[in-house]
Amino acid sequence: MRYDVAVIGGGPSGAVAAAILAKAGLSTVLIERNLENVKPCGGAIPLGLIEEFSIPEPLVEKKLSHMSVRSPKGRMISMEMPNGYVGMVRRERFDSYLRDKAVRLGADIVEALVREIQQDSSGYTILLSKGLAPIQADFIIGADGANSRTAEELNFPPNELQVIAMQQRFSYCERLKPYEDLVEIWFDGDVSPDFYGWIFPKTDHIAIGTGTEFRKHNLKALQRRFIEKIGITEQPYLDEAAKIPMKPRTSFAQDRAILVGDAAGLVTPANGEGIFFAMRSGKLGAQAMIERVKNNKPLARYEKEFRKLYNQIFFGLQVLQSVYYRNDRLRESFVAICEDRDVQQITFDSYLYKKMVPAPWSVQMKIFLKNIYHLTKGS
Ligand SMILES: Cc1cc2nc3c(=O)[nH]c(=O)nc-3n(C[C@H](O)[C@H](O)[C@H](O)COP(=O)(O)OP(=O)(O)OC[C@H]3O[C@@H](n4cnc5c(N)ncnc54)[C@H](O)[C@@H]3O)c2cc1C
Repeated sequence: MRYDVAVIGGGPSGAVAAAILAKAGLSTVLIERNLENVKPCGGAIPLGLIEEFSIPEPLVEKKLSHMSVRSPKGRMISMEMPNGYVGMVRRERFDSYLRDKAVRLGADIVEALVREIQQDSSGYTILLSKGLAPIQADFIIGADGANSRTAEELNFPPNELQVIAMQQRFSYCERLKPYEDLVEIWFDGDVSPDFYGWIFPKTDHIAIGTGTEFRKHNLKALQRRFIEKIGITEQPYLDEAAKIPMKPRTSFAQDRAILVGDAAGLVTPANGEGIFFAMRSGKLGAQAMIERVKNNKPLARYEKEFRKLYNQIFFGLQVLQSVYYRNDRLRESFVAICEDRDVQQITFDSYLYKKMVPAPWSVQMKIFLKNIYHLTKGS
């Protein structure tokens, strides 16, 4: 069978892209290696995403407006989000909802691993596992995650910076009861020397995890220390780990193919947030693809638009990570800055709707001076 577009990878980026393509009347196939796949993920999503993609209520297990951050010395800063919440989803339910939607809108779905992609002047031949017949497509969207086979086969530039993250799921026990309605973030070199640790509640379990730059530190030892420091003696019922690409590839659009989500490296530094950018890039990528197929408009428009919308956020968070995540004294300073109500307001506003909201001049000045004070103290 020959399709207009083959979407490779059925996570949030691929499922969103396939749904939009199919709805626009393009013949679309979504190829996913494992429809039962449970992506290792904290499942925290901002309110802006829930609204934009009309995520049904039952999928959002928790709506959390209370968050605390913990410094290396154990200082706790409590924060309230007055105008919104962080939603918690379970990826096994979330991803299959998005894939089902794509199918309802007319996409075909094939369960197979993409092994190889051959290219000629008219398009692509995609070779699959399980002895399945190859799939022909005029265009490709690579949505196959951090280790993207599509990117490799189509010679996109490499994913430069990767974090490896690990998470364990615990059933609720006495020690974890206080976390039932609370997101907690740990900035502590014992837990992560270059990222952070998180405690995310779901309805039937708590997910606790940490990350570190790929191959630099012993991730299992960091996670063990985290669990000890929290004081949990119960055993987790699930361990999961995966890479997070923390920098956009230098290019993620070609003449007939694009990459979206983790495959393109679209996860923000400092907080490792990827679901929003996966779905947003899936949407922007699919819209550009429709214009390419119907009106021969170049796919480069997709990359340009994504960068225009989000470069500032990626840059800001990159600076934050490289300045404050270097050692425990700087992390201590960072947590101290989080105590400021204006900092909290700006952080939440930009997290919830991914817009850099300009603060009044006096507030900017105050935050700037606080930064200078804490950086001098922390260095
Ligand atoms: C431990 C951890 C915690 C995280 N927590 C959060 C969080 O709380 N909030 C947040 O926003 N982000 C979080 N992230 C990041 C987030 O999970 C990703 O950014 C997001 O899943 C990207 O979606 P995607 O669709 O691009 O890729 P993925 O979700 O990785 O989906 C890729 C899909 O492609 C399939 N696939 C791969 N190769 C092939 C192939 N060759 N053939 C066919 N199919 C293939 C895979 O099976 C998979 O289903 C976390 C990541 C990790 C590792």
